[in-house]
This record gives sequence, structure tokens and C-alpha cells, in this order.
Amino acid sequence: MDASTTAVCRWVWVAPRDADDVAAALSVCAGAGVPVVPRGGGTSIAGQATGVGVVLDLTRHMNRLVSVDPAARTAVVQPGLVLDRLRDAVRPYGLTFGPDPSTHSRCTLGGMIGNNACGAHSVAWGTTADNVTELAVTAYGGTAHRISTGWSGAPAGLRDLITGHLGLLRTGMTPAGMPPGFSRRISGYGGLDALLPERGVQLARAFCGSEGTLGVVTEAVVRLVDAPRTPVLAVLGYADESAAADAAAGLLPYGPLTVEGMAEDLVGGGAPALPRGRAWLFVEMPDEGGARALVRAAEAVDATVVTDPAGQRALWRIREDAAGTATRMPGGGMAWPGWEDCAVPPVRLGAYLREFRALLAAHGLHGSPYGHFGEGCVHVRIDFDLVSAAGIARFRDFSGNWPISSSRTAAPCRASTGTGRRGRSCCRRCTGRRWSGSSAPTRTCGTRRAA
Ligand SMILES: Cc1cc2nc3c(=O)[nH]c(=O)nc-3n(C[C@H](O)[C@H](O)[C@H](O)COP(=O)(O)OP(=O)(O)OC[C@H]3O[C@@H](n4cnc5c(N)ncnc54)[C@H](O)[C@@H]3O)c2cc1C
Repeated sequence: MDASTTAVCRWVWVAPRDADDVAAALSVCAGAGVPVVPRGGGTSIAGQATGVGVVLDLTRHMNRLVSVDPAARTAVVQPGLVLDRLRDAVRPYGLTFGPDPSTHSRCTLGGMIGNNACGAHSVAWGTTADNVTELAVTAYGGTAHRISTGWSGAPAGLRDLITGHLGLLRTGMTPAGMPPGFSRRISGYGGLDALLPERGVQLARAFCGSEGTLGVVTEAVVRLVDAPRTPVLAVLGYADESAAADAAAGLLPYGPLTVEGMAEDLVGGGAPALPRGRAWLFVEMPDEGGARALVRAAEAVDATVVTDPAGQRALWRIREDAAGTATRMPGGGMAWPGWEDCAVPPVRLGAYLREFRALLAAHGLHGSPYGHFGEGCVHVRIDFDLVSAAGIARFRDFSGNWPISSSRTAAPCRASTGTGRRGRSCCRRCTGRRWSGSSAPTRTCGTRRAA
């Protein structure tokens, strides 16, 4: 299992000590035709860390920070290194790693690369693909590749494959209605167009988001960013979540580090007081002047500016706990993960959420969207009945209708936590494409079995 609703029985669990062990395991598996699933912290929420066959646990031994170069602002990491260990180690240099999933205390750099993970700060610092410069990768069969920018290290045949499909890569990567260059297009192999010559043949970037299907990362060189010295948190209150979503895109020109949104149903008892309103945007700014200018421009119902770090931490806790809070409905029933990271262009998010709420209501379902409003990206946990036959039929009906019903605001992309098993059919509906054979985004290297 990972953190999704997917459970698949593995056959064997292997904890490699180094890249040679990874190569040996992949060679044996390829010889026997056995699927392989590399695994970091297992915090994926779409089933991408699950699969039959051999699970390679990269956290047990391959979990070191190899080196830090503060002047070059880079670090060399092993795949099983937990993100917070990296952030702790580079903090004394005034640096940090930009992408920061809510699972930062347990997710690994390898898993972040596998999922092309993002986080609250992606409006400022981008996704993991934006912050990886070089990867050591071992492919199914055991061949080692060092990939960065350019064709050096590419597997045999890849260059010809790309050269033969330039038109498709140029025009076919964007779902209908989505503007080209949409930052949260992370569905499936969403970054493959980074291999285009006009984009500099960014092999390491294109690998990010491949969810363990192209090879196993055994080492990565990652880019570090300046950590803001005195970030300030502006909390803006709005009438409801759609109003907050409508406002989010207009805040981007002020240079926020985060624009996170959520409504009152996700604020648990005992949380610090929030400004008036029934939904809020949590906007981190690099300094107090910027935060106050933003508040003046924001047209919020109410707002507060928090400068002290302890106060900010307490407020951020509300946002970080939202995923947990969202799993319980007010009446005590369960709401399920798996319907995560739907993204539309930020200017369309308010309209999209209104339509999404209407669709939930039409199916008698409930859920509380929250997430990265500045990127047009939301999570929602929904009170599906996954036990009774009627409940499962409703789940299927809702899941089948949702992207299509949302087409007026643009079919949403899966947008940060990965495609996984749960997202495959969604990608197919969004893009009109059917993944098949070796191009299917499954969680196995080189070979696959039915989900
Ligand atoms: C409450 C909650 C909140 C979350 N919030 C966010 C968020 O804000 N943003 C976000 O992006 N994600 C989020 N996630 C999803 C997940 O935590 C992140 O994507 C995280 O980076 C996954 O890291 P991991 O180490 O747990 O990877 P895993 O789940 O173990 O693996 C992720 C994928 O990477 C592959 N993989 C693992 N290691 C390697 C390797 N060495 N080489 C190649 N492939 C590999 C796996 O096969 C799998 O497909 C959230 C999850 C939860 C439960």
C-alpha cells in the first residue's frame, strides 16, 4: 500500500545498499520478466508506489546526503533521503529545496523525482523537475545512465524516437482547453516535451514524474534556492472558497511564495483564530512590506499579517493538517483520498470549483476542496461509499463524469501528486489518449502487470 486507496500484493521486498545492488536486482528481474516498483516514503496518493513484483526500498540504506555545494547552490543526494533531512542540512547556508509537499517530514527525494512533486511554494520555485539538474538512473535490465541536459547518457534509441515524433511532442502534450505551458501539467509523462530540441533536450527534467516506470534513480544533483530570511504570512478571508479561488490569480503579480486556499470545514477545533470569512488564502510573502501591499490590494473580507515565526507555524499547521482533517466528514463518516490534484488555469479555478461542487451535490456526495489555489490546483477527499454495490456504482459514475462535466472550465489535469493507478483513466479522458504497452504509466519498470 501507499497513502492511497490502492492495495497490491508485492512478491518480494529488496533493500539495496548501493547502485550496484540496484543494477543487480534490475538485471535479475528483467531476466525473469518480473515487474519492479521503486519505493521511497510510500506517501503517494494515487497508488504509484504500489505494484506486484519486487519492491525496491530505497529508504533503508540509500538515504544519504552525499554533498552540498553552497556556492553552486546544489546538493548531491541519494534517493532515499527524506526531504526534511536535506532542508535541515542546507538551512545553515541560508538555502532550501524549493518543492515542499505536505509530507516533507517523510517523503524522499527519489519519490519526489518519481512524482515530480510540488508543494505550497511551487508558485515561486516550481516543481521537482525545475530543481533537478542531473540524475544517475539504472534502467530495467541493469544499465546505468547519467542524464542531465543534452543526449549524453540517453538510452539507445531515444534520440531517434524523439526526432521521429517532434510534431506530436509539440502539439499533443496539452489537454483540450489548457493553455500551452500550463505549469501544473504533470499528468503521466507530462514533461516529455522537455526533450524537444528548442527546449534544450532536458533529459533529467523529462524523467521527473515517470513514477518509477523508466528506471530507478540512484543519485541526484538538485538545485537549492535562497530561503527567505523573514517571510511574512498574510491570511486573507473571503465569503466562500470560490471567492477565494477567484481572487488567487490576481495575487500572483505581487510575487507570493505561496497562495494556498481552504474553506471553513477544514479548520479543526483549537486552531488559531483566522480573519473573518468562510474561506481563506494563506499567502506567504518575502517581507512585511510586500505582505501589507498585498493585503491592501486583495479586496478580501478581512485579513491579518503575521510576522512572528511561531504564529506563522501555528497557522501553517492548519493547512498541513487539512489532508487529515478532510478524511473525516462533520458527521464522523470517512472521506477518501485519491481524488487529488486537479488543476485548471488559476483564472478559471473559481468557476471550476462552483461546477465541481454542483457535480458533487448532484451525486449526493460531499468533499472539501483545498490546496494550491495560486496554481489552480485542488485536493479533495470525498465521502464515497466504497463498501456497498450502490456506493461503488456511484463512485464509478461520478469518476467517469467529472472531467467531462468540467469541460466548460477546461478539463483539469492531475497536477502534482502524480498519476498513479488512479489517474490513468483520468489522463485518458483529459487527453483523449489511451496509454498502452510500454508507454502506460504504471508503477513498474519496463514491464507491467494488470493493476
Ligand atoms: C497528506 C499528503 C499530502 C501530500 N501533499 C503533496 C503535495 O503538496 N505535493 C505533492 O507533489 N505531493 C504531495 N503528496 C504526495 C506525496 O507525498 C509526494 O508526491 C512525495 O514526494 C512522494 O514521495 P515518497 O518518497 O513518499 O515517494 P513514493 O510514494 O514512495 O514514490 C513515488 C513514486 O516515485 C517512484 N520512485 C520512488 N523512488 C524512486 C526512485 N529512486 N527512482 C525512480 N522512481 C522512484 C515510485 O515508484 C512512485 O511511483 C501528498 C501526500 C499525502 C499523503
